[in-house]
Amino acid sequence: MSKVPKKVMILGLDAPIVPRLYRYCKEGKLPAIARVINNGVWAKNCMVPLPTITPPNWSSIVTGAWPSTIGVTDFNVHWPGDPLDRTHGGFYSGDVRAEFVWNAIARAGKKSVVVNYPTTWPPVIKDGYQIGGSGVEVNQWFWPAGAFGSEIGEPPPNLDDKTLFRFAQHGVEAGAPGQMPRCSMSFSHLFATQGFEMGTAHALPFSPQAGQLSPEPITLEPPTGWSMIPPAKKALEATLVVQPFSSLYRMPGPTWHMLVLDTEGDGYDKVVIYDGKDASEPMAELKEGQWSPIIRKEFQTEAGPRKAAFALKLLKLSRDGQELRLFHTPICALEGWSYPESLAGEIHSEKGLPYAEPAFLAYDLGYYDINTLLEATEMERQWLSDACTYILTNKTWDLFVMHYHPPDHAWHSISWMMDPATARDEAEWRKFQEVELKIYEMCDHLADDIFSCADPDETVYALVSDHGAKATNGPFPPVQRILMNAGLQMRNQDRTIDWAKTKAVAQRSVYIYINLKGRDPDGIVEPGEEYRQVQEQIIKALTEYVDPATGKKPVLFALRKEDARFINIYGDYVGDVVYALSEHFGGQHGAFLPTAEWGLGSLRGLFTMAGPGIKKGIELERNVWCLDMVPTLCYLAGWPIPRDAEGAIVFQALEDPDPK
Ligand SMILES: [Zn+2]
Repeated sequence: MSKVPKKVMILGLDAPIVPRLYRYCKEGKLPAIARVINNGVWAKNCMVPLPTITPPNWSSIVTGAWPSTIGVTDFNVHWPGDPLDRTHGGFYSGDVRAEFVWNAIARAGKKSVVVNYPTTWPPVIKDGYQIGGSGVEVNQWFWPAGAFGSEIGEPPPNLDDKTLFRFAQHGVEAGAPGQMPRCSMSFSHLFATQGFEMGTAHALPFSPQAGQLSPEPITLEPPTGWSMIPPAKKALEATLVVQPFSSLYRMPGPTWHMLVLDTEGDGYDKVVIYDGKDASEPMAELKEGQWSPIIRKEFQTEAGPRKAAFALKLLKLSRDGQELRLFHTPICALEGWSYPESLAGEIHSEKGLPYAEPAFLAYDLGYYDINTLLEATEMERQWLSDACTYILTNKTWDLFVMHYHPPDHAWHSISWMMDPATARDEAEWRKFQEVELKIYEMCDHLADDIFSCADPDETVYALVSDHGAKATNGPFPPVQRILMNAGLQMRNQDRTIDWAKTKAVAQRSVYIYINLKGRDPDGIVEPGEEYRQVQEQIIKALTEYVDPATGKKPVLFALRKEDARFINIYGDYVGDVVYALSEHFGGQHGAFLPTAEWGLGSLRGLFTMAGPGIKKGIELERNVWCLDMVPTLCYLAGWPIPRDAEGAIVFQALEDPDPK
């Protein structure tokens, strides 16, 4: 007789490379995830919607509906009737036009816990608890909606193709500088005595700072104006001005003061950081290579005083006092990201931080090395583990759903160095495959902490993902230029689009919009016959284009919008032509099909579940879609199905598939 689970836990990992995750599980390196795979059902062919990108696919998973039904159809969203060059970040819960599973099961009196789940802010949860949801980090804000607008522009000539496609895959073309998510208080920062060129080695998916010189170097000078200096043979001082930018709670950068001390007389060996120059209460005392404990303080912001936490690490201190590097993590608000609002105040993490940016960002910029990167990533994991453990053990709940982002950050940053097909040499890919495993180990550690908060006899554990990834391996096709060459897009002298003569523009990852009369503000194409002719011209231009460098066609297919319905793309929130790119081109994910494989990369989704009522030790060959998971689990648990769900029940995963 089959059993009915009382509780369901769904842990979402962003962009794991599923065949590799599976292999690490089978090798015994990820025991918590392996327990789910070995004791339950593993779907080898999990498909995810196109574009293979974060906001639409996560919202699809928890509504069971297609992105076209939901209205979140890419990293950014374009509202019909808006100018064709206007989009906004796809993390706004108001854009989700389908019922979330937590609101469906609230109809049956069930309570949910939703953690760090994209597209869920501001919270609309009816019965339960929520943390984060405005970005991919608890303190990251792609919402308010305007925070990630984009423009359609040809790249300025000084931007290389690499920079271009890193931006383009997020729906933000390189012509739109300075568009980035906000943090709650301040992004991370490096205080260094030597300037350096930032971000020259690695991919920088979100940073406008690539190639710019590092912030103004700090200077070390003899201390003046201190009321008391700790005992030392020699001392130097520096003023540290924190430089918040793109902050949700804007604040003047606080100024800290640092003493650099030679305590033994054989060279500088310690720094002490203070709020002021009275030298009474240090914020941190650090030797080279040391992290501070988590520092909690109240900051004055435009929105009033806000509690926040951060940590410092002394990355470098030369004995002669000539070279010093001090890193501060993002300053992470300890409030403002929970529902109910008071929940934030209940959560305490001794060693963790509710991060505000990918820890990979500071690595990409050249602030710190791999070890520090992994330590910072671990601080974020620790905080999430602590927060989830607190809620799961202190509150009443039936459904737990969470999204965890670091694999995605990792592959954007390092996939081309960890794939032997693109790495510079074997030493490089070996080194970065070790980093890859460490990222998966953090996923596993998180899964272990979370899953152990529920009784395995009555709980279904599930893991799911929104897409996979591959290494950056070729140029990003110049889609706007292809349209220009076909006479479909015209430019003014200053390279802006001449809307009075433009019939088509590329927008976001996979869409071409026709500048349509009656729908678009500057529309020139008549609906009907002319519209259909322009569709054909676009498809011809895209599919006939050959990349001059490789001789390959980058566009795998281009479909009229009405034909794209057969791959579940339709409605008011998608373009008039839909295309996908060959896996031989472009960045990590987005415009590629979920079946794409290249090098060690794979775009497939993760789909595994174990527990009461689920078959044990089964590998499913059949296709499943990531949006099948929630309908399947609701069916199994006897809970209401989300109102707009289109995913199917995966009957082959169930011990007793027949209707009750
Ligand atoms: Zn993603």
